[in-house]
Amino acid sequence: MQRIGVFVCWCGSNIAATVDVDRVVEAVKTDPNVVHAENYQYMCSEAGQKLIRDAITEHQLTGIVVCSCSPRMHEQTFRKTAEAAGLNQYMVEIANIREQCSWIHKDKDEGTEKAIILARAAIAKVCLNAPLQPGQSKVVKRALIIGGGIAGIQSAIDIADAGYKVDIVERTPTIGGKMAQLDKTFPTLDCASCIVTPKMVECAQHPNITIYAYSEVEEVKGFVGNFNVKIRKKARYVDETKCTGCAVCTEKCPSRKGRNEFNCGLDTRGAVYIPFAQAIPNVATIDATNCLHFKTGKCGICAKNCSANAIDFEQKDEIFEEQYGAIVVATGYQISDVTKFDEYQYTKHPDVVTSLELERLMNAAGPSKGVLVKPSDGKHPHDIVFIQCVGSRDISGRGKCYCSKICCMYTAKHAMLIREKYPDVNVHVFYIDVRTPGKNFDEFYRRAVEQYNVDYIKGMVGKVYENEKGGLTVQAVDLISNERVMLDTDMVVLAAAIEPSDGVKHIASMLTASIDTNNFLTEAHPKLRPVESPTAGVFLSGVCQGPKDIPETVSQAGAAAVKVVGLLAKDYLVTNPCTAHTDETMCNGCSSCERVCPYGAISYIDKEVMDKGVREVRRIAQVNGALCQGCGACTVACPSGAMDLKGFSNKQIMAEVDAICK
Ligand code: FAD
Ligand code: SF4
Ligand code: SF4
Repeated sequence: MQRIGVFVCWCGSNIAATVDVDRVVEAVKTDPNVVHAENYQYMCSEAGQKLIRDAITEHQLTGIVVCSCSPRMHEQTFRKTAEAAGLNQYMVEIANIREQCSWIHKDKDEGTEKAIILARAAIAKVCLNAPLQPGQSKVVKRALIIGGGIAGIQSAIDIADAGYKVDIVERTPTIGGKMAQLDKTFPTLDCASCIVTPKMVECAQHPNITIYAYSEVEEVKGFVGNFNVKIRKKARYVDETKCTGCAVCTEKCPSRKGRNEFNCGLDTRGAVYIPFAQAIPNVATIDATNCLHFKTGKCGICAKNCSANAIDFEQKDEIFEEQYGAIVVATGYQISDVTKFDEYQYTKHPDVVTSLELERLMNAAGPSKGVLVKPSDGKHPHDIVFIQCVGSRDISGRGKCYCSKICCMYTAKHAMLIREKYPDVNVHVFYIDVRTPGKNFDEFYRRAVEQYNVDYIKGMVGKVYENEKGGLTVQAVDLISNERVMLDTDMVVLAAAIEPSDGVKHIASMLTASIDTNNFLTEAHPKLRPVESPTAGVFLSGVCQGPKDIPETVSQAGAAAVKVVGLLAKDYLVTNPCTAHTDETMCNGCSSCERVCPYGAISYIDKEVMDKGVREVRRIAQVNGALCQGCGACTVACPSGAMDLKGFSNKQIMAEVDAICK
């Protein structure tokens, strides 16, 4: 017979408002294994933990059940409490009567009944728990950053400054991300390039940082402290070690039809190109889809003109493997598809642009050298209409339901910069609400209205169409005067929603990290662990986790770096003892478990076993306890039931099911 203690937490009114905690205590006391049960307002507080420690000692408990919040929240807390009182930490079970019970029920009787059932299931399980001892695994003192925007750059610099090696894997030919494309930045209106390019150079020159640009993560194996990552370095057809970045090839290339991604497609570039003058690494890349050599077997003008002999048409993708202790995801965002919003004429009229395109049109290094012109005819516009929330806060299903957070501020920035440089241009902004909850942000917006006379109109635009003069007419409703508005204008700028970068789902699945319904990476806890993913050793930096401006991105990047440094500072990590093990008498060596194990923890040996009194040699699965992460995939896959998990055995699960069904 076990001596089990049950501790029912009220979680303030979170649990106690929907669950009758006294009734739960009385109900569990009827279990013959329970020798002590009580409830308390906050079991996780020091007073609550003391109550548990005292009860363990006083009643010589062999196991405890804490009926409280999710184990993700406080399992560790209660395990430490048990250890402090001399009870093995794996003799603790949590019955989640908050997320799985009180938060989802309204009826107190029903909530209480369910809490009792969950508590009984946990008691049945803990009675079959065995004391376990955690092991140790070595930490590889190197970090990987996926994505080289300002988030990845800042995390890399902070980790490298702390003395650890860092690799940045960036899929485009240069680091810098969207910030490198911006003109001036709110709230201070300083030049984006002047802030980001020195940081890019710092990365390139830092002895602890290696940049793999034009590269992608191909495969991730392993676990916290010991990730094994395959990286594909895509062929640039230019030898990076020889290229001097002189750009002669980019000028001579006769194939000039490539979409200039850096200028958002507002102009074209050669088949061999350097994205922008301050690119890091500052080397050329050949885009094989537009290159005449790859299309016709002729040309080769770049090679003839390259004095460094750097062009290498034979170059192949390279795949290499590297070990890391921690991984930071910093894959950022992209502008969401505005072509779905036909009513704004984006696909039909060249003078309807997105805000990021406007950044390039206003940028001194952009396609019009910083002179604001209409893309249709290169002429000066006299009137510009901005439309906010294009695809953001959209519950119709066409756009995104969330607020993109940065658009109100960058629209105010654009409006102000245009009015400052071109006082003759009228600027109108259509908005739903203006959201400016940052330091000096509301003052910034008010400056646009009061000092620069930007015409803010509360209302949604119904339609934009080309008028008989070849210009644009904007049709909207002013929600304050409740009047229809018809505005003739020269340009329309769409503040398009932002969304996680293309390919983020693949990255998340390789890392076994989770994403939310909008594809943003999910934090381990939104309040208490905002820069950690639920997968140990995987951290989040920048907009890949949710919309953010640069100050917020940089703060989060620094926070992620601190977490990485904390991890890399350890020589060893404690490993989870709840690992899989094989029942040799039942295993038939079918390989089902090996195929599903995401950590490569299963191998096979030939072993002599006794079966029904007969001695025979059999192929048997072996679990490497250092690699096994206890995910349980093999226990489900094994057709003969030979695989079991310590701490989550089939017997324990069935005992829980029986207790629930009683
Ligand atoms: P990104 O800049 O998107 O960087 C992500 C990087 O990861 C990119 O280089 C990308 O190529 C790479 N990547 C993506 N997927 C992969 C992959 N699978 N493998 C490898 N690499 C990958 N903020 C301000 O504070 N002030 C402003 O004035 C301002 N103006 C803005 C104007 C506009 C029009 C827009 C759209 C945004 C503006 N912002 C502004 C917001 C700012 O751009 C972001 O806060 C910032 O760029 C976020 O940085 P990031 O590194 O998280 O993402
Ligand atoms: Fe200059 Fe040659 Fe590099 Fe082109 S490939 S930028 S020509 S060094
Ligand atoms: Fe351009 Fe010709 Fe070189 Fe191709 S081979 S990158 S088309 S110059």
